[in-house]
Amino acid sequence: MNGYSFELITGPMGCGKTEELLRRIRRCVIAKKKIKVFSPVVDTRTHGDYIESRNGLWADAIKVEHSIQILQKVKPDDEVVAIDELQFFDNNIVKVISTLMNEGKKVIGTGLELDFKSEPFGSMPELMCIATTVDKLHAVCMKCGCEHATRTQRLIDGKPADKSSPLIMIGGDETYEARCVKCYELPDKNAGKNKPHCNLKILNFARR
Ligand SMILES: [Zn+2]
Repeated sequence: MNGYSFELITGPMGCGKTEELLRRIRRCVIAKKKIKVFSPVVDTRTHGDYIESRNGLWADAIKVEHSIQILQKVKPDDEVVAIDELQFFDNNIVKVISTLMNEGKKVIGTGLELDFKSEPFGSMPELMCIATTVDKLHAVCMKCGCEHATRTQRLIDGKPADKSSPLIMIGGDETYEARCVKCYELPDKNAGKNKPHCNLKILNFARR
C-alpha cells in the first residue's frame, strides 16, 4: 500500500486486467485511501464515467482525452491513482506517471502490451520499464483452449484481420479474441511470395 510506486498489469484482451485493477482499487477503498480512477475517452467499450470488467464489476472513473489532464485532476491529498487502458494514451503518459510516483503517489495501471499486429502498443514498452512491478496475465486461447494466450487476435467477419488493418478501429464490426503464439494469425495481403512473414512470432524469427 506504499506510495512512490507504479504497479503495471498487462496481457492480451480478455486476460482480466481490468478485473485485477478493480480488485486492487477495492483494497485501497477498504484501507480508506484517497483514490482517483482514470480512463481514456478513446475506449468506446464503456460510455459512462466508469470502468468495467468483463465479469460485470465496475468503478467510477474520470474520462480524460490527454494524459496531462490526469495531473490537473489529481489533488495533493490523493494517495492512489488508478489508470485503465494505458496503451491508448499519448506519449506524455510516461512523464505523467513518473511525476505522480515522484510526488509519492501509488499508481496502478493496466494496458495491452501488444496491438492486434503483435507489435508493442503505444507507450507500453516505456511504461513497463518505469514500473516498479509488472504483472503479465495470460488468457485462455480461444482457438486451442490452452491457458497461455498472450496475443490479441483481431477478427473481421470471423476471419483474422490483415496486417494493413488500422491500429484503432472505432465502431467497426471487428471482434477480438485472445490467442496463444501458436494459434495467432496475421495475414499480409501485400507480402510478396518470397518475403518471409515478419512479426513478433518467435518461431518465425528462429527459422529465418
Ligand atoms: Zn492456442
